[in-house]
Amino acid sequence: MNKDYEVTIGLEIHAELDTQSKVFCSCKNSFGAEPNTNCCPVCTGMPGALPVLNKRAVELTIMAGLACDCEISNYAVFERKNYFYPDLSKAYQISQLEKPICVGGGIRLSSGKFVRLNRIHLGEDAGKLIHEFDQTHIDYNRGGVPLIETVTEPDLSSAEEAVEFVNKLRDNFIFAGVAKCRMQEGGMRCDVNLSVRKKGSPLLGTRTEMKNLNSFKAIQRAIEYEAKRQIEALERGEKIVQETRKWDDEKGVSLSMRSKEDSNDYRYFPDPDLLTVKIPELTVQELKKKLPLSPEKRRELYIESYGLPQYDANLLTSSKEISDFFDACVALLKEPKEFSNWIMTEIMKLYTEEVGILISAQNLAKIAELILTKKITRQNGKQLFYEIWNEGGDALELAEKYGMLSSITESELEGIVKKLIAENAKALEDYKSAPDKVIKFFIGGVMKETKGKADAQLARELILRELER
Ligand SMILES: [Zn+2]
Repeated sequence: MNKDYEVTIGLEIHAELDTQSKVFCSCKNSFGAEPNTNCCPVCTGMPGALPVLNKRAVELTIMAGLACDCEISNYAVFERKNYFYPDLSKAYQISQLEKPICVGGGIRLSSGKFVRLNRIHLGEDAGKLIHEFDQTHIDYNRGGVPLIETVTEPDLSSAEEAVEFVNKLRDNFIFAGVAKCRMQEGGMRCDVNLSVRKKGSPLLGTRTEMKNLNSFKAIQRAIEYEAKRQIEALERGEKIVQETRKWDDEKGVSLSMRSKEDSNDYRYFPDPDLLTVKIPELTVQELKKKLPLSPEKRRELYIESYGLPQYDANLLTSSKEISDFFDACVALLKEPKEFSNWIMTEIMKLYTEEVGILISAQNLAKIAELILTKKITRQNGKQLFYEIWNEGGDALELAEKYGMLSSITESELEGIVKKLIAENAKALEDYKSAPDKVIKFFIGGVMKETKGKADAQLARELILRELER
């Protein structure tokens, strides 16, 4: 990129709240249903149908704000944003302009840069157009799904910063339990406002907006393309037009869509069907108490209180499900490193967001306890783990059923080792020339003698000790 220019980026990120029902009616909020089955006169905007505010949606918006250190307003107003589009049957979207629920706040990037938020407000999603061959269908299921919009100040200056910001915001929302933020399902979308200017210029350049970017890769590529396009246009002596542009992810280009609207164009006015929302301080305090720890705070806890390496802490907080699972295991048995190892090796090999974690914290804690108290071998512990992951069951019952529970003490094992070595003078002679082979031979002997119930690691140590005498 041309080094004489700097890029200024502001983001608007839309995230669907994780509620049971929609924001102004009792229709289900669920992704993937048959088209137009989760609709009613309210969310399709039939004349005379009156909206009723979903209290949970307001609570989750407040929690989203608390997770990003926003100030929570003591009252909020819903306004109508008027525009026509086929996916918006009411011809207005209920949103917030003058009095949003959350104001200010921000997120710190890894570079130390603080990206300020202007606001987080609550509104409703629109329906969805489905283009098939030469036809377009409309699915109104998504219409009226609670949607929070996070608006940043223009504090970002590169695609990398924008991607990191969206990632951190997404983590904050997921960990706070307010939104699932499934970008592939459109549950989180990002609008990018971007302008460029000559370095040192006091004035911001004319900005364009790219709407509905729904993957990190699209955000990255769209910003890189648009910054380059604007710089090249300015270098040719052209003017940048304030407009909304469409990002074509397949072709990797942004295309002019329409001249950019200002908020005035939407003729916002307070929705006469909805009351002002009062937000008592007490409600905010109660929600603050319920707010789950942020990924940042969890990492701190894992490193400082549990003594885990940074690497483990990062991996354990890479998803809320993993982090919650780890917390549940540690609550049952205070062996953080043991569980961290299980998660980083066995669980991460099998885990996907779609499938989830197919073993309970109780079962993994039982397996870990059996291993750590040397009642079963680590190898058998792993076998139990896979069996339960694939077939289900109870760790203790299965260990008993398979006769894995060892009754062999260390001194008994020592006796077996000594006996085997005394009986195999020939193997002893080979020890100098082929130590590995001899050790393997004796471990095999121990396993045979104990019907596989001996701890292989311990047996190995004892064998080595005897051989080195
Ligand atoms: Zn409805």
